[in-house]
Order: sequence, then C-alpha cells, then structure tokens
Amino acid sequence: MWSHTFNKRVALGILTFACAASSLAYVPDDRWSTTTSGSTGNYGDPATLAWSLVPDGTRIPGEENSNLINYLDDLFNVSANSTDLTNRPWFSLVEESFTRWSDLSGLTFVYEPNDTGSSLETSSGVLGTRGDIRIGGAYLDGTNGTLAYAYLPDIGDLVVDTGETTFYSNSSNNYLQLRNVLMHEIGHALGLLHVESSSESLLMEPTINLSIDGPQLDEIRGIQGLYGDAYEKSNNGLGNGSYLRATDLGQLVSGGDLAIGTDATGGQTVLATESDFVSISESTDYDYYSFTIDAASLVDLTLTPLGGVFSQAVEGGAESAFDANSRNDLQLALYDTDGTTLLKLANETGLGGVEQLSNLELSSAGTYYARVSGSTSSMQLYELQLSAAALVLAETGDFNGDGLVDLADYTVWRNSLGDAGANLAADGNYDNLVNAADYAIWKNQFGSAASTGVVVGTTNVPESSSLVLLGIAALAITHTRLRRTTNRLD
Ligand SMILES: [Zn+2]
Repeated sequence: MWSHTFNKRVALGILTFACAASSLAYVPDDRWSTTTSGSTGNYGDPATLAWSLVPDGTRIPGEENSNLINYLDDLFNVSANSTDLTNRPWFSLVEESFTRWSDLSGLTFVYEPNDTGSSLETSSGVLGTRGDIRIGGAYLDGTNGTLAYAYLPDIGDLVVDTGETTFYSNSSNNYLQLRNVLMHEIGHALGLLHVESSSESLLMEPTINLSIDGPQLDEIRGIQGLYGDAYEKSNNGLGNGSYLRATDLGQLVSGGDLAIGTDATGGQTVLATESDFVSISESTDYDYYSFTIDAASLVDLTLTPLGGVFSQAVEGGAESAFDANSRNDLQLALYDTDGTTLLKLANETGLGGVEQLSNLELSSAGTYYARVSGSTSSMQLYELQLSAAALVLAETGDFNGDGLVDLADYTVWRNSLGDAGANLAADGNYDNLVNAADYAIWKNQFGSAASTGVVVGTTNVPESSSLVLLGIAALAITHTRLRRTTNRLD
C-alpha cells in the first residue's frame, strides 16, 4: 500500500518532474470511487467530496509535521485565536479553488470543519471527522523547486511547500499564484495527471503557468470526462438524463435564439468568469434540454462538437496534434411536448461533424425536448444552439401568421403567386408552389368564417367569385390549428 500510494504522488514544481501516463489530452488517472458521501458510480457521474484543513502538527509521511495553518496565518498577518478557520482571510482563496472545479463539473465540494489530525495519506475521509481531500503543508525544498504535491484518488491529500513564502504571498490577481497551485493540486486530487503543450497554457502542466487563471479547456474536458458536466448534479444528483429532468433553456421566442455550452467556442483559453461548458461523457450519457415556444414556430437546432485542435503530450512524451472536436460522434434528437414522441433525429455526420435539425415546424405552443447523446464512451464537449422564426400555418389560410384569416392573407397569396420552394408563406397545401390550389384553401377557410359569425367589416373583395365573402374579413384561427395532426419536419 505504501509503495502504491507513493507512486500516485504528483507534484507541481518550477522544475519539471517526469512520470508515465496514458495517452489522452488531459491524462486522467482515475476518479474517486468512494467518498464520505458513498460510492460515486461510473465515469461521467457526479460526485460529492468533503475537504478539510489538517491541524498543525498532523503527521505528513516523509515530511515534517504540518504547519500550514500557522504558515498561512503568518502570510496574511492574522493573529490566530480561533479554531474556526472559515473567518481567516486566506480561507476564501482555498474555498474558491474548490468552487472553480465544481462550477465546471459534476463535482460538489463540502467543507468539513473537523479534522482529527490523523496522519495524512493513510486516513480516509469520514463525515463529521475529516475530509476526503485533506490539506496540509510542510517545508519541502524552500524557494523554487516543488511548490506543492498531491495524491491521486482515493487518497487525494495535498501538501503545500511552506518554504515558498515569497511565491505564496504575492497578492496579484487575487493571489493567483496560491490559487493556481491549489487548483492544480486539486486537479491531481480529483484524478488528473500532468499534460504538456507547446501551443497552449494549461493548468495541469508540470510547471506552473501564471498567464492563466484556473482550469483551461483541456482540463474542463478532463474533469467532465471523470465527473460529468455541471448539469449531471442537477435534480439532486440525478442529472438531466431524462425529459422529466431536462435542463430548461427557457423561452424560445420568434426571431430569438438560445444556446448552451457556448464558452467552449472560444478556443483553449478559459477565463475565470466562464463556466458554460457541457459534454457527453459516455455512450449511456443523455443530456435533455427543454425549451418553450408560445406560438407555432419554425425552429432550427444545431449541435456542434467542440474542444479544438492543439498540440499536447503526456509528461515527458513527444507532442502531437490532438483533435478534441472529434472524440465522440454525437446525435441530436427532438421530442414532442410529451417528451417521448420523437419528432426528428439528426445523425448525419461522423466524428467532429455538426448535427442539424433545420426548419422544423412546431405547430403548437408548448415545451419541447432536445436530447444530445454520443455513440461511444468518449468525452465530447459541445454547444447546442436553438433559434426560432414565426411559423405561418399555411393550411389555415393565415398566410401572414397574424392569427386571422382575412384579406391581408389574400394579398400575401397574390404577391407570391407562382413562387416555388420550401416554406412559402402562402403554400397552403405544402406542395412547394403557390398557385390556385392555395387560393382555394384560403377561400375555404375564409368562407368558413361566415358560419362562425365572426365578422369584421372590410371594403375589398379579392375577386368576383368570392363576393359572398363581402363583409367578412377576419376569423380567429385558433381552432383550426387543432386540425393539424402531423408535423412537417424536413
Ligand atoms: Zn502537478
């Protein structure tokens, strides 16, 4: 056990440390299998982890006993007289370092205020007693060299070099130097190993990079591959894998659009303010999204695999181009308002290809469901975009879509008479041609207004044959929409 755990220790240093690992851009080692909250399931499943700060004097195997609390108090000029660490000015920096990882993934972190001071590395977490991830510190090698090190899951403990006073006392960018070290080591504690890239600046590089703040796109791929995206912990950890628990994207208005996963479109660099990243992590991972339209709409959905192409290698390996856009062949499905009736599936392209559902006619208001899934068990970031335009229910004769069948609709027909193509406003019989047959539909609908008694005065008559319509100008067509039983989807 000792040699095993020692091998799973990884360090962040000014110097480069060599270690062997498998070949994925983000180089995962393993994920937590059991935490203080129990079994964590499989790759892509969310997990809850507790973290604690070990009291000074706690044994750290191979080092002096921990002096981290006193070290940080000195660094921030705190005269400590309380065991409540949450009031320390440095506490929020530690907490933020965990929060950043949880904002980007299915992880939930809980601060465990208790820590019994049992030896680091060999004492697993116990709720109310000590955290899963325990943080201590000792003088490792003074200025430069190693900044900190961490153990991989299921140990996950962190040791900070309390000999790095100049480095950690730098307050620039809200103590970026301290936070990036903590976020890097937490990355190890969660199961990520080192990765190297000559083209990108990454948090999990063996040597600290201070041009970035926290996890970058490759590390977000890594953490979501292990624990899923942030929506996997929604619905009390049940995630969004069913239409009943769909992530609500909100109202899709005519002329408007909605999107999720958009922050992954900005290249490899991720700002600390960005957290809109979603992914498929497994072939069994289904991401459901709901959106609501308040009127019949013509809807477009676009699913774009993301991640970018960049140079990378495992630590000490030879770099090569890695195509993170092409990890998993995604599918896009649209379901009706019942959540289960498939309206249309898009699975036309292969790895790296965009899937689209274009010009879908959704004929009634309501909440619809889009489902994203993948064909293999590979992690794939993506963006889902939705847009809507007003859908003219041409078969009702309401060619201008204003909810009324009136002479204005005749004008639309007259002005587009002879036009050919898809989605023509006055193509009442959907034969992609505006002709006399469509006029007949309008006239018929208009005529039916007479029997309903819905009468509005008018002064125009389209043609002599419809003089009978004189005096009848408008009919609310709400009821005619119910006549439509099939969805035209192309
Ligand atoms: Zn490291």
